[in-house]
Amino acid sequence: MADNCESEAVLAAVIKCVNFAAVKHKDQRRKDPEQTPYINHPVGVAYLLVESGVKDLAVLQAALLHDTVEDTETSHEELVVEFGPKVAGIVAEVTDDKNLDKEERKRLQIINARSASREAKLVKLADKLYNLRDLERSVPQGWTQERVEEYFQWAAKVVAGCRGNSEFLEGELDKLFVKWKVNL
Ligand code: NDP
Ligand code: ZN
Repeated sequence: MADNCESEAVLAAVIKCVNFAAVKHKDQRRKDPEQTPYINHPVGVAYLLVESGVKDLAVLQAALLHDTVEDTETSHEELVVEFGPKVAGIVAEVTDDKNLDKEERKRLQIINARSASREAKLVKLADKLYNLRDLERSVPQGWTQERVEEYFQWAAKVVAGCRGNSEFLEGELDKLFVKWKVNL
């Protein structure tokens, strides 16, 4: 009985995140030519973590919510109220400071990855794997092949700071890096 109650609470917590993210991202599309609904991305990132064997509820919740503060009208405080400080804290760790220009944000991702928590590193690894698979599947409109290659090179530097946390995710990323001849 206790087990049932516990798993019901876990399911409810996960579905609350899926719903929250779906509402927040409802008008957004990915950059692929098919303009896939944005929500496919956070759900896919969370599923990569499930595939990799992660069972930590807060990590799965943070994966579902990971782009809400960066890309939608959502505040850190809102996540604290709705999902608690642990989940909100992981999301904060993977959220870029939008006051900075894009080059600086990309530079800081490489540096900040190294000192991030294990939970945030797992979300980062899954996020980068999802995006690289997406880029391999189809090139966003207006992107040159050179820009795609630059993205792979940069992503590998962020991933370098997150290593040692998931054999599965890092193995899948390494397969892509070898295929794309990324300097590791
Ligand atoms: P990004 O290069 O940051 O775009 C990639 C991001 O878009 C991903 O991290 C991902 O973020 C999101 N995304 C959405 N759809 C897709 C998809 N289908 N596949 C992969 N990622 C997707 O774009 P910006 O416009 O922010 O670019 C700024 C940077 O790009 C500049 O700093 C510069 O370095 C570089 N640039 C290079 C050019 C070139 O020709 N070489 C030209 C212009 C810019 P998320 O996980 O948050 O969804
Ligand atoms: Zn993302």
